[in-house]
Amino acid sequence: MEQELRVKVRERDEYLCWECRRDIRKPPIESLQDSVHHIVPKKHKGKDEENNLITLCKFCHRKIHGNKKLEKAYRNKIFDFVMKTQLN
Ligand SMILES: [Zn+2]
Ligand SMILES: [Zn+2]
Repeated sequence: MEQELRVKVRERDEYLCWECRRDIRKPPIESLQDSVHHIVPKKHKGKDEENNLITLCKFCHRKIHGNKKLEKAYRNKIFDFVMKTQLN
C-alpha cells in the first residue's frame, strides 16, 4: 500500500485510534505500517482505498489481529458504521 494513502487516512482520523481514541502521534509514536488497518482485509478482496482503511494504535491493532473472532466482529462493526456514515 502506498505510504501516501496511509498518511491520508491518519490525517482524516485526526491521528486517533478508532478503538481506544489514543493519539498515535504521542509516544510511543506509531509507524505508518502499524497504525493503518484494512476494514475488509485484502484476502477478502478488501481494497487499498481510503474508505476501507482506519487508524488503529499498535496495541488495538495487534489485539484485533490476534483473535480471529474478534477480527471478524470488528470488521462487521466498523463496516456497519461506515455504511451508515459514508466515511469519505
Ligand atoms: Zn487503540
Ligand atoms: Zn490490520
